[in-house]
Amino acid sequence: MLGFEVSDPAAWRRFLGDVLGLVEVDGNRWRNDRHAWRIQLTEGPADDLAFVGWEFSDGELDAVLERVDAIEADPSERDVGRRYTLRDPAGIPLELYSGPKLAGEFASEVVPWGFVADEQGLGHVVITAPDKAESFRFYTELLGAKLSDHIVTEIYGHKVDLSFFHVNARHHSVAFGGPQRKRLHHVMFEARSMDDVGLCYDRCIRSGVRIMQTLGRHPNDRMFSFYAMTPSRFQFEFGWGGREVDDDDWSVETYDCVSEWGHHAPQIAFPPRTKK
Ligand code: FE
Repeated sequence: MLGFEVSDPAAWRRFLGDVLGLVEVDGNRWRNDRHAWRIQLTEGPADDLAFVGWEFSDGELDAVLERVDAIEADPSERDVGRRYTLRDPAGIPLELYSGPKLAGEFASEVVPWGFVADEQGLGHVVITAPDKAESFRFYTELLGAKLSDHIVTEIYGHKVDLSFFHVNARHHSVAFGGPQRKRLHHVMFEARSMDDVGLCYDRCIRSGVRIMQTLGRHPNDRMFSFYAMTPSRFQFEFGWGGREVDDDDWSVETYDCVSEWGHHAPQIAFPPRTKK
């Protein structure tokens, strides 16, 4: 589960429902799979991540609680069985929980084939990590995430040194590479159909949602996706075709590009014509 503090909840409701195709639960909560809810909005000035939830089995949760200083919290506030809160090294509030409430089959009129979620989590987040080594240690040694791979390159003169981590078959549930302007660089949702990526791209163009990176494909998770701006001015990625990780047959690689093709900034892909 993810919490967002947003300054314009009405814009977010239109965005989550009409553009992304998530399904409203109660106005502030939204789902993209069989979980009772996956996204929670609270109104406030931050326009950023409010919390990141990490789901565990009871046994896994007990093991993690041996390694971190977490505070027990009211599970009913999140519709879960057990709930503990702490912050990651970047100060991002985390919620560790087990026993989430489930609802019926997910069905969205906007994204008819639905999302790759459920046991793979709702999607992935790319977050700020001012001290990358410390965040690396926290997520792997304390929370139990496993390293998937790295991307080390330069984009438009900026050094990129990203590391990607998995907690289930999804190639990565979290990634980071250094400090970001906000807690969250982007949140990714993965559709089950390639057409749903194109249809979401069209919905963005029709409804004035700003495209930040054109369609493209990443070399490591193989995601076919585009990036655009949420109403809170952090980005979302909408993708299809993500590769799954099999821990028994996996070697950590370092890739030298962020995208095999595409993912261009629109102002570079489509520069304004100058009159001669
Ligand atoms: Fe991503």
